[in-house]
Amino acid sequence: MDIERKRVEDDLRGVVVGDVFCDELSVQLYASDASIYQVPPLGVVRPRSAEDVVACVQYAADHQLAIHPRGAGSGVAGESLGRGLVLDFSVYLRRWRRGEQASDPLLPPEPGLVRVQPGVVLAALNRELATAGQIYGPDPATRSVTTMGSVLAVDATGSHYLRSGSARNTVRSLEVVTAAGELLELSSHSPLEDSAAGRYARGVWEIFRGHRDAIGRDIARRGAANGLRFDGVIEPFESLQSTLPTAETRVNLARLLTGTQGAFGLITEATLMTEPLAVNRGVALLFFRRLDAAARGAVAAVEHSVVACDLMDRRLLEIARDTEWAFARLLPRDAEAMVLVELQGGSITELRARLANLEDDLCQRRKLAFASTTTMERQQRDLYWALSRRVIPRLYRVKGDQSPVPLIEDVWVPPQSLPTALTAIYEVLQKFQVTSTLFAHAGHGQVHIRPFLNLAAPKDTARLRALSEQIAEAVWACGGLLGAEHAAGRSRSWLLRKQYREVWPAMLQLKQLFDPNERLNPGKLIALQPEKPDQFLRPLVTTIQVTDNDRTLIEADEHETAEAELRGQPVRNLPVLQQWGEGRAIEEAVRACNGCGRCRTTAPDQRQCPMFRILPVEEASPRAKANLLRGVLTGTLDPSDLALDRAKEIADLCFGCHQCRLECPASVDIPKIVGEIKAQYVATNGLKLSDLLMSRIDRVAAVASRMPTLANYLMRSPLWRWVLERTFGVSQARVLPPLAEKSFLSYAAGRRWHKPSAHGGAKVVYFVDHYAKYHDVQLGIAFAEVLLHNQIGVFVPSRQLASGMARIAAGDFRGAKRIARRNVRILADAVRQGYTVVATEPAAALCLKREYVHLLGDEDSRTVAENTMEACQYLWDLHQQDRLSLDFETIAAEVAYHQPCHIRAIDAGNAGPRLMGLIPGLSVHPVERGCSGMAGTWGLERKNYRNSLRIGWPLITAMRKHTAHAAATECSTCKMQIEHGSGRSTFTRSSCWPTPTAACQGSRRNCG
Ligand SMILES: Cc1cc2nc3c(=O)[nH]c(=O)nc-3n(C[C@H](O)[C@H](O)[C@H](O)COP(=O)(O)OP(=O)(O)OC[C@H]3O[C@@H](n4cnc5c(N)ncnc54)[C@H](O)[C@@H]3O)c2cc1C
Ligand code: SF4
Ligand code: SF4
Repeated sequence: MDIERKRVEDDLRGVVVGDVFCDELSVQLYASDASIYQVPPLGVVRPRSAEDVVACVQYAADHQLAIHPRGAGSGVAGESLGRGLVLDFSVYLRRWRRGEQASDPLLPPEPGLVRVQPGVVLAALNRELATAGQIYGPDPATRSVTTMGSVLAVDATGSHYLRSGSARNTVRSLEVVTAAGELLELSSHSPLEDSAAGRYARGVWEIFRGHRDAIGRDIARRGAANGLRFDGVIEPFESLQSTLPTAETRVNLARLLTGTQGAFGLITEATLMTEPLAVNRGVALLFFRRLDAAARGAVAAVEHSVVACDLMDRRLLEIARDTEWAFARLLPRDAEAMVLVELQGGSITELRARLANLEDDLCQRRKLAFASTTTMERQQRDLYWALSRRVIPRLYRVKGDQSPVPLIEDVWVPPQSLPTALTAIYEVLQKFQVTSTLFAHAGHGQVHIRPFLNLAAPKDTARLRALSEQIAEAVWACGGLLGAEHAAGRSRSWLLRKQYREVWPAMLQLKQLFDPNERLNPGKLIALQPEKPDQFLRPLVTTIQVTDNDRTLIEADEHETAEAELRGQPVRNLPVLQQWGEGRAIEEAVRACNGCGRCRTTAPDQRQCPMFRILPVEEASPRAKANLLRGVLTGTLDPSDLALDRAKEIADLCFGCHQCRLECPASVDIPKIVGEIKAQYVATNGLKLSDLLMSRIDRVAAVASRMPTLANYLMRSPLWRWVLERTFGVSQARVLPPLAEKSFLSYAAGRRWHKPSAHGGAKVVYFVDHYAKYHDVQLGIAFAEVLLHNQIGVFVPSRQLASGMARIAAGDFRGAKRIARRNVRILADAVRQGYTVVATEPAAALCLKREYVHLLGDEDSRTVAENTMEACQYLWDLHQQDRLSLDFETIAAEVAYHQPCHIRAIDAGNAGPRLMGLIPGLSVHPVERGCSGMAGTWGLERKNYRNSLRIGWPLITAMRKHTAHAAATECSTCKMQIEHGSGRSTFTRSSCWPTPTAACQGSRRNCG
């Protein structure tokens, strides 16, 4: 860390209770958001209170630093990026309360009022509010991650604007830290008030009075555009006719500050209005053969008092069809565009009649739509809405150099002008020979156009300004405005002076009033020298050299080479430790992360990211890891930075559950990126003692299994467990599974399964891994017996090693490669002899299917990967081919089933519960409560113990409460966690063996 950063970090740590980071790695994580920009800040502060915010503002004023407030960093215009201090409100300021609960001067006991801190996540708030039949109305598409501070700062809105308006409509009061460091509660104030708020009210009133006519005209034309707005600020507006405000005059400062994008004040709390949840809702999908007909159809639909009216173009419909089979069935092939409308209110009969009337109007009377479908049924309605919600993020999966770029995507036009405006916008795009996607909240004229551009190509970056300017001109010509629901940020602020020409002087004066020294988010929204849209573009191209053993995958660029010559040092080089593929594959893998921030979700219907859920800090988010490696590849960071302890701290916040990879809209392989970061650290620093032991737990078990009685006695001994914790970091609280008297491999050798099977038909080479090998030998035996019972040949090679997953997780790739080579050699040979590789441990299957390929990347590892299955998946497949014997005994029991993350990661589907479902009398209840928090050996470690339980808590409590006889899961460590956390053995209540191998047990009994 350079001296300047170190000084700022030390100073701020002295005045702030929250976190402060100024090191290069931490600031890299805050250098980007979902926009196309990258600006590393000087430092990052995560305030714990409004007092912390005040302290930061005062420090920034004393040292002439800028402040950039930030929520989830999902902004698409770079609105939270800057070179000063980033204040991340999303970590600690996450509390909220209801109006009915207490007598509170800031929160009158009115139904529907809430007081929120800025870091509260909108979707989380709505989940809680729903229990009381309420909802916070404005619904940005990113609500699963977006924070309330940002919702207010950008005046967010979404599909339901026609019902709820934007955030501005919901604001009662704001607690704000001003640029002068005052902590003020701002609402509606008299300009005559003798207080700081009164002083601002008086200033605002005077500025409004000076520009009364221009402001009046602006109010009339503003429509749904956000930013600094003037409507509803002065009440009554006519009071501006007098020379002085009267006693009745009010200035609504809360409303004025909503939408000012962190450039006027920092929001530390807010009192907001919520609304009742709609009881009856009906949705219609209308299909059009032409885009202009769809635009006219949307305008016509609004006459039917719809509460939402969204339009999607052909490109999005194509993606939808490719995304899900249900969408493919729903969307007619010849639809060029679709309009989704929602109606609410009234009885079901009334709503049904209104839907029918709307369909009739658009399809029959006006002949705009050629097909339609409607629903009032909840599941179907959710499916219709999922169309846009799932499809738009999928845009990020579009492969190739060009991607849909957010730059000029945020346009408002008067809804009646939508058809003309779209024609004008497309003419500009055509002139630039650029294709695009179109999504529009057509009912209120918000248009999101994303041109496909290659921001790694100078040809495209060179035309960003011209393209933006010409689209803006086209929009203005139709009476529209830039800035509808996304902020102006770095992308659009430079065009606002021209857009608001007449009221611009008033805007500048208001900025001067609230932030005279341009400390708050300078260069954005209102600035004398606004940021330009092609400055600080996020670097996408690798500048340093990347090598793989002796091969150069990517040459260092000219600039890097010249710099190295000047320094008299070799060019910076990253010798990668995994197989990334030829050429720029590593760059593409990292670049795939567009920063959208969806991986910060805590939605209960998603799994990612278990760690971020309990530790909602940016470094715990999956995208942080991509940002880190991108920083190295593009030369912002040095490859040697990956050997810093901070890099390990960040990488260790991932335990490889793979859920982000599955749920990321762009399918970014974060676990592989994390693997590279961990391996780089270990390659320089070696393994810490506790990591060394944990990563070699298979060897420890091998030695201990020679004296199982003694080892089991010691493992039960509190003293020995204390010693283990102190020396090796294994948590005393964990009950380690006892060792079997005889390892499974010895048992298998006794049954002669270690010899290749003489069987002529289907045959399995069983990859045993650690747990079945040393602890639950019965599991291995049962599985082999089931195979034999079904006339499948069994081969258990004695020389196979445990998978080495613990080494991979620790970043010990040298050790992991040794294991991988041995296992792959044995298994690939077996595959060539006609065997299918089957593993009972999901993590072991994951190793064979993915990790070994990343480690070795050779033909054999790919052969093994392609021919590996998880045990339940294999048996279910057998059943699908009618080859699984179903002569099970009846087991009258209920089991609560947990699906392990690694079963999802290898795409094994629901084979486990389906298989158990074949056993007569056994009913299986899936319990979907996310990750168990165990993550192999990760949860065994003392340092991770508490977090492991916190992550697994939803599952543990669900299992505790469940009335089933036992719990079931495929993964051995998930089983440990469920047993440990729920306080009951998952097996004892039933005579069945309640892992999916219950099926094995059942059939073994039957076959005698
Ligand atoms: C795929 C996609 C779809 C989107 N759809 C929508 C949509 O439908 N509707 C919509 O409105 N937006 C949308 N957005 C834009 C963005 O997600 C929203 O603007 C969101 O509200 C930003 O929230 P955030 O918490 O990520 O804020 P950030 O990006 O971190 O910050 C947003 C702004 O708020 C300011 N800010 C944050 N906290 C404070 C505070 N406490 N005090 C003062 N200022 C603060 C920041 O300085 C910045 O200017 C979309 C973005 C993406 C990537
Ligand atoms: S990892 Fe995926 S979900 Fe997360 S920010 Fe990157 S693209 Fe978005
Ligand atoms: S692999 Fe799991 S723990 Fe790691 S970043 Fe992804 S979701 Fe989080």
